[in-house]
Amino acid sequence: MLLSPLTVASITTTSAAGRDHLDELALEVQRKANELCWEMYLYHRHQPDFRETYKAAREIWSLAGHIHELLHRDPAPLGHVVKDMLELDQLFQLIENDMAAWNDARIDMNLRSSPMRLMRRGGNVKTLHAKLRALEEAIRYLDDDSNLTSEAKSSEMSGREPMIE
Ligand SMILES: [Zn+2]
Repeated sequence: MLLSPLTVASITTTSAAGRDHLDELALEVQRKANELCWEMYLYHRHQPDFRETYKAAREIWSLAGHIHELLHRDPAPLGHVVKDMLELDQLFQLIENDMAAWNDARIDMNLRSSPMRLMRRGGNVKTLHAKLRALEEAIRYLDDDSNLTSEAKSSEMSGREPMIE
């Protein structure tokens, strides 16, 4: 779900009321990133490329908070917001790609057999992916509700000559 640089122009048309809503969506991205980070940290530290993946997930968390803060500035630096949202999308792609190689067989045997482990819920790839999808959905709402996708598309199309059939 990478956004094109054309979105820089389109977000400036977003109204102040729209920005209030956007800032709420940025917080939701931060909450979902926080849940994903904890799931990773508690259960998946043994997975391949964990450190790099966790670092990227934490960056999503902090970047979403930063975007929220930017949207509260008056005037909001919308070009900056768009640049950071593009980065957010790229970070998400990175963790999604890394996690594709993660599986339950790698779950630490000590963790698996400990009483603490039995008391906890989660700790499997299915739960991890559910949290990943929840984060993706929150990011998509943020992208969509800023009209980034549709406006970027229409400005991209109208700037082009008609297709030859
Ligand atoms: Zn920034």
